[in-house]
Amino acid sequence: MAKVQKEERVFHGSPVSRGIAFGPIHASARGFSAPDVYAIEEEAIPLEKERLQAAFEVTRQQLAQLKNRIDEVADGDEGLVFEAHGMVLDDPSLQKKVAQSIEERKQNAEFCFYATMQTFLEGMRRISDPYLRERTIDIEDVSQRVLRNFQADLDAILPDHQHLLVAHDLTPSDTASMDRTKLLGFVTEAGSVNSHTAILARALGIPAIVGLGNVVLEATTLAPAILDGYSGKFIIYPSETTTAYYQALAAKKKEARENLEKLRDQESTTIDGRHITLSANIEFLHELDLVNENRAEGVGLFRTEFYLLESRKTRSEADQTATYTELAKRTNPHLAIIRTLDSGGDKLSTEPLTEPEPNPFLGWRGIRVSLDRPQFFKEQLRSILRASAHGKVGMMFPFISGLTEVRTCKALIKECMAELEEEGSPYDPSLQVGAMIEIPSAALVADEIAKEVDFFSIGTNDLIQYSLAVDRINNNVAKLYRSSHPSVIRLIKMTTDAAKRAGIWTGICGEMAADLNLTPLLVGLGVDELSVGPRELPGVRKALLSLDYVKCQQLASEALTLATSAEVFELSRSAALAAYGDLVAEGE
Ligand code: PEP
Ligand code: MG
Repeated sequence: MAKVQKEERVFHGSPVSRGIAFGPIHASARGFSAPDVYAIEEEAIPLEKERLQAAFEVTRQQLAQLKNRIDEVADGDEGLVFEAHGMVLDDPSLQKKVAQSIEERKQNAEFCFYATMQTFLEGMRRISDPYLRERTIDIEDVSQRVLRNFQADLDAILPDHQHLLVAHDLTPSDTASMDRTKLLGFVTEAGSVNSHTAILARALGIPAIVGLGNVVLEATTLAPAILDGYSGKFIIYPSETTTAYYQALAAKKKEARENLEKLRDQESTTIDGRHITLSANIEFLHELDLVNENRAEGVGLFRTEFYLLESRKTRSEADQTATYTELAKRTNPHLAIIRTLDSGGDKLSTEPLTEPEPNPFLGWRGIRVSLDRPQFFKEQLRSILRASAHGKVGMMFPFISGLTEVRTCKALIKECMAELEEEGSPYDPSLQVGAMIEIPSAALVADEIAKEVDFFSIGTNDLIQYSLAVDRINNNVAKLYRSSHPSVIRLIKMTTDAAKRAGIWTGICGEMAADLNLTPLLVGLGVDELSVGPRELPGVRKALLSLDYVKCQQLASEALTLATSAEVFELSRSAALAAYGDLVAEGE
């Protein structure tokens, strides 16, 4: 007799950490919730204040332990978030406010603490700066931890068996404190790709999906489920057919990965001999292990925002010099391109804005911030220059809109070089200096900019956003975000042509560089370098090895005559299918 099979349900979200995981669900309804409230006598006020201090102290100890735990598994800066959480507790004005609230309300310490934090969080949620808004989860995280520490039974107990965790949202400390031998993967209703939680999931290698909508209510603890961290599908009560499909897919992914890894010592050169430099995008130095394992030919983009801003401590010039030097040494003999700070927009901010910006994406971001803060900018420039004495280092500027910004940057580099000579610090006087082409205006004047720089790096993530006027993080318009839009590929072509005329090279460091459907098109448009996430390197290498440059050039010429993104996409995808169908057949 067939056993009763509950109906399969499929939820879609944003995949943030790859992998396929099968397992029973553990549904968690935890959140920042109100503790019981009760009145206290005047005499009990000192006791309540002591309880508050004790809860803070236990929390501090836990945070220190969590930081150590993360530092052990990830040698980047991920653990620093817990140091930042500790700083919330050390804020004297917070302690004073809660103590005052205990005196005035004559209510228990945990409730006064909760009420104080709620008021603060409400204020934060109204801020339009996405970085600050995102940080509310950190404040909730530490607040929830303090509340739990008022009670004897500390952490909510996670199951002792292997499970897929389903939660409304997870805080970084939830993610970091999970037992990886038990946690097979997690999905959350809320969350964004740029959250600390997503970053930690990737750093820890836990398959994860965020932004699944209402899933907690539908997910029964112990129900079987499958998490597809490639496509962002979460399937509850999978049918036998679905389970069989995913078992086969997981085996195929494993085999495909192993096969791709066999190619890692091959040069990324097309069949007819055109070499395309294949380099990596990183944010943390610990990613260099994977970069070197996958034999990237350098780092095409080291994003410095997380390093400089995430810890909320100002990085000293000495600290910066040490970090960039380590990057240079570990990337040697290949080139390591350090992008100067790209703050603002959807990224971290250097300083709290006095007023929220009405249009952060068109506001004070990227090179604009650096040029308005030359002392801060020069600290970074000098640090990069010092590192250039220890390896092959390049630097590039984000959010360039035209020639004047590039010239100003170069003048500052010159000043910094003179300062280093005075202090007797060596540097490479011929280090490569590049401009990111990610604003359409820069592509349109690429001929002018090319005279001033050694290379271009096309930031397609922003170039698409600004060409099509489509917010890259707004789900409502996500379907309009088309990397194969004719305007985008024409801007790329203008850039590569301008570079060729000036005798400089062009790379692509946006996510488009890793879209295997579009590799034939990008190769044909004449890019010299593709810079992709460390996990994307094997696939892109295989694609490059399978393509014929001359055919790609013909394809690009045809693509430039097409009128719609769908036509351009199809043209390139069919070439990709013909050359390496096994890699792209599952996609899209
Ligand atoms: C880009 O815009 O394509 C890019 C690489 O920079 P970021 O994604 O950091 O803005
Ligand atoms: Mg960008």
